[in-house]
Amino acid sequence: MQTVLIIEDEKDLAELVSFNLEKEGYRTITAFDGASGLEAARSHPPDLILLDLMLPGMMGMEVCKILKKSEKTARVPVIMLTAKGEEIDRVVGFEVGADDYVVKPFSTRELLLRIKAVLRRSLPDAPAGKVLAIGPVTIDPDRHTVAVDGEEIVLTTTEFKLLLNLAERLGRVQSRDLLLKNVWGYNYVGDTRTVDTHITRLRTKLGRGGDLIRTVRGFGYKMEDA
Ligand code: CA
Repeated sequence: MQTVLIIEDEKDLAELVSFNLEKEGYRTITAFDGASGLEAARSHPPDLILLDLMLPGMMGMEVCKILKKSEKTARVPVIMLTAKGEEIDRVVGFEVGADDYVVKPFSTRELLLRIKAVLRRSLPDAPAGKVLAIGPVTIDPDRHTVAVDGEEIVLTTTEFKLLLNLAERLGRVQSRDLLLKNVWGYNYVGDTRTVDTHITRLRTKLGRGGDLIRTVRGFGYKMEDA
């Protein structure tokens, strides 16, 4: 049974979402503010986190940043719950690293589809391949780990999948649309800027290894061995 942590200060909404998810066979944990949400995520890392953007005290973006920086929770996918007009680009983009977002008010059906899609893409691809060594970058698809110059770095599930997609097709250019489809999934409602912001963050995290990811202007990205 998969566990979903719901961090949402509107108690009625949190309870409604919890009720509907449990009806679908998920286990749920509910937290009404950021601090207790973080506490819950750390003590028992869930399979997925639904995180409200506007929370009292610590805001959703801050909570997400902390989750994505911590070794223990970095790989737990986060779906942000946002209101219309909130800064979605910043949420799913460079700064915060959420895996997806759902705009309020949302239907149960819509939320469930997003949850299923995000959980599907966070599963390790089976059968996992052999360890890839490209310049200073080592990728272990089995263990879901990445190291640069032997130093392990923490990537989110989406960043890992993006890197693996590029690494497995070394030297081949991939369009933003193709990456969006392969990494985020067919049903992802977003645009190709999502790819750009994730590439930027991935390059930063890879440090010296980030240079191996090349931009092919007007088309997409490729990874090259030095
Ligand atoms: Ca709220």
